[in-house]
Amino acid sequence: MDARDPITTARGVGPVLGRRLAAAGCRRIVDLLAHLPLRYEDRRSLGRLPGADDDSTEPVKPGPLTVVARLENLKRVFGRRRFSRVEAVAHDGAASVGVVWFNRPYLAQQLEEGVPYLLHGPLRRRGADGPWQLSNPSVERIGGAESDGGGVRPVYGRIGEVPPSRVARLVGDAIRTLRDTSGPEWIEEWLPHEERTKHQLPRLAEALTEVHSPSREASVEELNARRSPAHARLAYGEFLLQQLQLAAARRRRRRSGKPHRYRADGVAWEAATSLVPFRLTGAQERVLGEIADDLAGEEPMLRLVQGDVGSGKTVLAALSCLIAARSGLQSALMAPTELLAEQHFASLEGLLGSGMTVALVTSSQCVASDGGAVEEGIADGRVDLVVGTHALIEERTRFTRLGLAVIDEQHRFGVVQRQSLVRKGLRPDLLVMTATPIPRSLALTVYGDLDVSILDEMPPGRRPIETRVTTGGRMEEAVNDVRRRLERGGRAYVVFPRIDGGEGAAAGLPSLTESGPKWARALAVPHGVVHGRLRRQERDETMSRFAGGSIQVLLATTVIEVGVDVPEATAMVILGAERFGLAQLHQLRGRIGRGTDPRLGDPLCIAIAGEPSAEAERRLSVFADSTDGFRIAEEDMRQRGPGEILGTRQAGLPQFRFGDLARDWNWLVAARRDATELLDRLADPGNDALRRQLGRRIPGLLP
Ligand code: ADP
Ligand code: MG
Repeated sequence: MDARDPITTARGVGPVLGRRLAAAGCRRIVDLLAHLPLRYEDRRSLGRLPGADDDSTEPVKPGPLTVVARLENLKRVFGRRRFSRVEAVAHDGAASVGVVWFNRPYLAQQLEEGVPYLLHGPLRRRGADGPWQLSNPSVERIGGAESDGGGVRPVYGRIGEVPPSRVARLVGDAIRTLRDTSGPEWIEEWLPHEERTKHQLPRLAEALTEVHSPSREASVEELNARRSPAHARLAYGEFLLQQLQLAAARRRRRRSGKPHRYRADGVAWEAATSLVPFRLTGAQERVLGEIADDLAGEEPMLRLVQGDVGSGKTVLAALSCLIAARSGLQSALMAPTELLAEQHFASLEGLLGSGMTVALVTSSQCVASDGGAVEEGIADGRVDLVVGTHALIEERTRFTRLGLAVIDEQHRFGVVQRQSLVRKGLRPDLLVMTATPIPRSLALTVYGDLDVSILDEMPPGRRPIETRVTTGGRMEEAVNDVRRRLERGGRAYVVFPRIDGGEGAAAGLPSLTESGPKWARALAVPHGVVHGRLRRQERDETMSRFAGGSIQVLLATTVIEVGVDVPEATAMVILGAERFGLAQLHQLRGRIGRGTDPRLGDPLCIAIAGEPSAEAERRLSVFADSTDGFRIAEEDMRQRGPGEILGTRQAGLPQFRFGDLARDWNWLVAARRDATELLDRLADPGNDALRRQLGRRIPGLLP
């Protein structure tokens, strides 16, 4: 028997069960073995039942208990409605306690009186001071085929319609049979010796045996946390396969080379950095260096810059474009919204306008900083930099010598859309900027063929934002705190979870149209309103009046979430805060405290929640405790899972069977490092098994 044989060849699997298993994706024996136990029960130390004649001095404590006992007075009891329970008295020779099973009526037939069973379950008192009772214990006949008495027992989930107890039996039988027919190496080891010894990981057969039938020495705590050496072997192996594929893709891309050339003499760099009116932070300088090296290299760049809101990514984007222009190449800066594209255009025109020609391309505007024709200018090379939204740049624009494409605030879109540029026959260097840092672990997997730079330093002079989370309608207190900041010359956002009506109305969520006027009156300064249903022109006017200071309060929906840069904004109130995700809250908060003028005082963000669920409460407390976008992102992923973070079932998001991006992050990092190096040794004769493994294109599965 081989682990890759069809499941129907396994002991105890007939055609019917075979079909059921196959329907749940379990077609081969390895698929069955890839179904790991949900948890483990420690039954190594047998206990005794508590009794009146107990002579031990230790008091009996409630908690899990494993005992060998015989059952008496076995009966099924019918309760009210459809509930039924099975009751018995368990006797271990010295003492006895009552046992009860809920909703398992079949036990009344299955169990026998007078024979020994291994019982494992919580021992509790009935009522405050009542008799002891074992409730819902697992029960196993001693000496039967599938019992070895105590030990660490795996507990499985169902596979499709196949119940857990059946799964346990099948897995146990399969491993025993494989070992009996093929010896201890019953499944081919494909992880190279070097990696295995470097990380001190068990062999594959050993790891699978250990997760399904842990040895007596195993740490149940580690097993339950899925941090045992066996679990680590499976997770690391899975990550390594994925990272090898990504590394191979990265290498292919690199080898393809690029058609354009940048100046590599540092002149462009000098020119660029001398333009900015401030000193770059250490992190900015480092990352700009990484970008410049990529540009000067022979391979096309594919780099992701992660940096928290306000860490100065857009500035880097502009400088990179300038380096391109100084090398005689065109560049494109793509933003997620028109609002942001216009904002970038305005600031870049100011920053770079004298040295180069910048054009704006949106659905409503097409302008160039030199006043000339836009489309022709791009096509004949007069325009150096095009700023706009993705769609427009990708679909409409014809470049003559595009060298660099920058995608700003990429997280709004999920996975990088570089395909459309490639389809147009363009192979520019690609720079992707993202805030809401995608957790590092996700970046390495989803964007694993990108190089990642991290901007982990804020420009100097920023004041830390104080964040306060309150529940209920503490409006006055919030109003007072915001007013104090307005009086110092600051500006404030009040963010609403909805505009009006709609599904939120029933849930009692505050809306812009209902509660907005109340806030405007209370704050008593000139205010404006922005939301997604306004005409663009109206919205833009309001935004620029807010930026200019003729209105001091902006009542808004989350349209302001991304990129909006008003340095005087020092206060934000977020209403219905329980409705927002962590990443979104963090983005919103990133709109304030961007300036450095000490006269404005310390920035404050007040999140007001209605009735938060336990989950929302956890989220809000992480939000209040940390302003570190990376920590928030990791926490967000822990709470919501990677799929949710990138938008559900994002194309390209790998599904891992064993590894967990949050829990096993260090294994992922190790796998990434090892993969790059292993790629060079992949052709070695000793790595046949690994190559075969890579060739089997069943993502994430171990066989
Ligand atoms: P991000 O795009 O990462 O959110 P920006 O590039 O928009 O950040 O920068 C945020 C603000 O900080 C802008 O007003 C920008 O001019 C300013 N800024 C960026 N880098 C520096 C720096 N090194 N020193 C001072 N101010 C900076
Ligand atoms: Mg930005």
